[in-house]
Amino acid sequence: MVIKVARTVPASQTIRLHDWETGLDGVIVIHSTALGPGAGGCRFWHYPDAEHAFADASRLAEGMSFKNAMAGLPFGGAKAVILQPAGSFERSALFRAFGRAVEALDGQYVTAEDVGTTVADMEEVSGVTRHVAGLSVATGRAGGDPSPWTALGVFESMQAAARVALGTDLKGLTVAVQGTGNVGANLCRRLADAGARLVIADVAPERRNRLEKILDALVVDVADIASVNCDIFAPCALGGSLTLDSVAAMKAKLVCGGANNQLATPEVAGALLDRGIAYVPDYVANAGGIISVSAEYLGEDQATVSERVALIGPRVAALLGEAAHTGLSPALVADRMAEEIMQAGVVKKHETIF
Ligand code: NAD
Repeated sequence: MVIKVARTVPASQTIRLHDWETGLDGVIVIHSTALGPGAGGCRFWHYPDAEHAFADASRLAEGMSFKNAMAGLPFGGAKAVILQPAGSFERSALFRAFGRAVEALDGQYVTAEDVGTTVADMEEVSGVTRHVAGLSVATGRAGGDPSPWTALGVFESMQAAARVALGTDLKGLTVAVQGTGNVGANLCRRLADAGARLVIADVAPERRNRLEKILDALVVDVADIASVNCDIFAPCALGGSLTLDSVAAMKAKLVCGGANNQLATPEVAGALLDRGIAYVPDYVANAGGIISVSAEYLGEDQATVSERVALIGPRVAALLGEAAHTGLSPALVADRMAEEIMQAGVVKKHETIF
């Protein structure tokens, strides 16, 4: 069976970023402001050209609209992508130039960290605009690096999904983690504490090697991680790792990870369903980071972030239950719910979204 996840919420605004002086080259895409200002991180990555960066930003911005809606946040979806300059450049000047572009949007876009950007980068951005989060903050307030919250939400999603789809807790299960960066490494530590066995892969040797030693993880080649013998596959690197080919070779019975845009094409959701592999939609599992970022922007406290992140697990359980009941892929069920929320134009209370 092939199920297309047809998304109908249209893109609203694309802002091309170009600053010769600092080398800033990139794009901000605001996908939807139906629920509030477009919120989504800033990715700093190598791209062959601006076209590829734009395509990535567009997909990521769309994902943020769905993620924010599903998490019950009063924000639309947006994303910034900056191409890493080929030659030498001054990082602080480049991020200040990016901050000026954010400021020019006058609050329509709120930025934060993503792959390749750090708290220090966002501190630079905050020197020229207040429409930024992911900054270091006082104890008790929401804020700082969002990745631990993302990892917590993914862990709780996995725990809930394992109970629903595999009928067991994580103890004794084998989890293959693709990408052991900020989110992946934190997730691995939580999984080890829960008694899971780990298989890991990362293109950066220093990132996987330190975990191999600390957590007694089995390291495999990046080309093999999606098809190793395991119970759960956790994509925590870049997007697109779930393809028709990788799903055909997969041994895992559940996919749940932190990476954005895991499905390379919409058809992959149907392929997972056909193979009986349960799938936790990426933007439902990895909402912890944006929950922290949005709370910081709104001046809320850490307890509020904890409460909202704690809702992710039950939301996943309900979503998988609904998918099983209807026979639809969890990706399609989640997309339909998020679209309904966006089209209604208001977020319901957090408790009422699943
Ligand atoms: P990161 O840059 O810290 O980690 C990514 C890791 O993946 C790096 O160690 C990198 O070397 C590795 N990697 C890249 N390509 C790989 C490949 N082909 N195979 C194996 N490893 C590979 O980024 P992060 O903050 O941990 O984010 C990871 C993913 O989670 C991204 O897709 C990001 O968009 C998503 N995400 C992150 C957050 C957050 O709070 N940081 C929130 C939501 C979603």
